[in-house]
Amino acid sequence: MSTNKSSKYTFIENALESRKQENRFRELEPIDPVNEVCINTGSQKLINFSSNDYLGLSKHSQIIGKAREYAQKYGAGATASRLVSGTYHIHQQLEEKIAHTFDWEASLVFNSGFQANSTIISTLADRHALILADKLSHNSLLQGGIASRATFRRFDHNSVSDLEQKLEQAQGEDYSRIIVIAETLYSMDGDRSDVEALAQLTDQFNALLFVDDAHAVGVWGPDGLGLAYNIDGVDLVLGTCGKAFGSFGAFALCSQKMKEYLINFCPGFIYTTALPPPVIGSIEAALDVLPAMDSARKKLRENIRQMKSGIEQAGFSTGPSQSQIIPAIIGDDQGTIALAKHFKKNGFLAVPIRPPTVGKGEARIRVTLTAQHTKRQITNFLTVLNDWNYG
Ligand SMILES: *Cc1c(COP(=O)(O)O)cnc(C)c1O
Repeated sequence: MSTNKSSKYTFIENALESRKQENRFRELEPIDPVNEVCINTGSQKLINFSSNDYLGLSKHSQIIGKAREYAQKYGAGATASRLVSGTYHIHQQLEEKIAHTFDWEASLVFNSGFQANSTIISTLADRHALILADKLSHNSLLQGGIASRATFRRFDHNSVSDLEQKLEQAQGEDYSRIIVIAETLYSMDGDRSDVEALAQLTDQFNALLFVDDAHAVGVWGPDGLGLAYNIDGVDLVLGTCGKAFGSFGAFALCSQKMKEYLINFCPGFIYTTALPPPVIGSIEAALDVLPAMDSARKKLRENIRQMKSGIEQAGFSTGPSQSQIIPAIIGDDQGTIALAKHFKKNGFLAVPIRPPTVGKGEARIRVTLTAQHTKRQITNFLTVLNDWNYG
């Protein structure tokens, strides 16, 4: 026997080593939240400009209260998958409430946005289907496309005309069905899509339209009902509860028939434990408080204006951002990392995003804003940016 005992791990060592060589090795850095915008690293308190808690709901007393109430009443866990004995009345009531709130026929709750996207898309598509996804689609959407083994093509980011061309081309090919995938608000550039145009186009070609509204629900649209609200021709909207909702989980908005199809055929819904009662309570309470949060949404828009114009005045592009996600595009990888360190030294957390997450030469500090950031915190952040001198 001459087998080298360590050899089965060589691939891991090699992969990690090459990540380090490329300066792309990543590590987890634990923190503790102090309040809606402040975190503690253990050695330092930082103002957090990298969270998705856009309205501060993760710390909202009514939401925490409902989570606690449901944990006490129903337990810490749901103890089974939804089709076995994990659908409590609170799960069903929540789905009715979500559907009612967003004016859809039905809604179905999933354990996370990632899980929902990857599993719903592979349930809608089969080997003979065609998936057309926006080039900047979230990884969870791509995973769904890959898992389905459908023909998978990407259209140019936010290009309705490129999508149209690809839909036209598909007319001459033989697919079981066509599924178009887009987001309402893209997570790296903070730009938006034209959901209405996408809906018209997909309707014209009899294609299904799946729209991911992860960064918009709670924040944008009338009463924070998202950027896909009240648009005819969208077949399925995916909302997440880990961002503006302040807790965890996700929901699909769809027809009753689509819901029945997913309950019967969607593995990521069927073969997983139902969301725990405290999470159901948090989402339910978020639905109660969100419609009345117009003043917080207004404050968030003011914060966006201040931050965006400040970054631009400091000489950096904010790209096509139209939202609470604002990139400060630095370009060079090392410079971006140096700037992130400079922010940290001065009391701010703002994470650097580098290729391959974004394109080459587009390294950036990705700023996300919440309604709880104060004018002064943003002013101080911008002062630190202006004071930065890089090589
Ligand atoms: C965050 C995000 C998801 C994943 O949602 P989770 O509930 O965090 O798993 C899906 N799609 C987009 C566009 C996202 O930004």
